[in-house]
Amino acid sequence: KEKEIYKEKGINLIVMKTRETSTKVDKLLSLFEGEDKKLIKEAIEFIEERHGEQRRASGEPYINHPIEVALILAEMGLDRDTVIAGLLHDLLEDTETTYEEIKERFGKDVADIVEGVTKLGRFQFKNLEEQKAENYRKLLLATARDLRVILVKLADRLHNMLTLGYLSKEKQIRIAKETLEIYVPIANRLGVWSIKTQLEDLCFMYLYPSEYERVKRFVGDSKKELEEYLKRVFIPKLKEALKEASIEAHITYRPKHLYGIWQKTIRKGIRLEDVHDILGVRVIVNTVQECYLVLGVVHSNFTPVPGRFDDYISLPKPNLYQSLH
Ligand code: MN
Repeated sequence: KEKEIYKEKGINLIVMKTRETSTKVDKLLSLFEGEDKKLIKEAIEFIEERHGEQRRASGEPYINHPIEVALILAEMGLDRDTVIAGLLHDLLEDTETTYEEIKERFGKDVADIVEGVTKLGRFQFKNLEEQKAENYRKLLLATARDLRVILVKLADRLHNMLTLGYLSKEKQIRIAKETLEIYVPIANRLGVWSIKTQLEDLCFMYLYPSEYERVKRFVGDSKKELEEYLKRVFIPKLKEALKEASIEAHITYRPKHLYGIWQKTIRKGIRLEDVHDILGVRVIVNTVQECYLVLGVVHSNFTPVPGRFDDYISLPKPNLYQSLH
């Protein structure tokens, strides 16, 4: 039946897939239009045919993996070629497919990205001392002349970390260590925040399970209360004050990720109970000047905590991140 449904959508499924795969494919295709959508459909058919009956360690059809990788990339807003490279990224390594074939069907950019990702996969990282890890990171960045190679590799690693539970304990630890020492700093350097934080929390869970549970429990207990306060008191008050100052702003809030909270207790030598920013409020405005205006509004409406202010606009972080904290 699903084969029929897909035929109507213009995709010929060769191997029967799980319902989960269908949902992901729908989501992926909904993010593209016209020629791009058509080419992505072709790429899905292509990997279906090539990966065939291959399966993941979890037992699910192999193509679930590249589809998830492509979806991560598409949701980050990356271009069609990167998304197609995400779909094709394991073909050179795991099937008989050649570089030339990919180039002919999907263009040189896609073929080059897939080849780059394949090369990165061949580096072996073991016993990483800090100095060596730094060298590997440099090597990776230098090898990938096209940054899209790194982005595909990061999405690949994220999905592998999300499905790490199916591997042996030994492999879990090896891969989580490698991720924390090599891929997290690269994601940080490139400013791919969503991948960086997800990778960190997954590594945290596998490498320091008891600490992970402790932080998770702590956040679970205090988050609700704080969220209530932000929603009912802080944000409405801030909105009002900004409106009065005629500043157009977009206000959101997000929980600090678990690894970030844990690191903070270590870095500052404090207890979990003393971490006060487990929920951060974010005010996005149109100009740099307005950032400072917002700061003025905040300080005149709320009492700042002495010594807890950072100006990353005049002193950007090494990855060029700029904002006022
Ligand atoms: Mn992969």
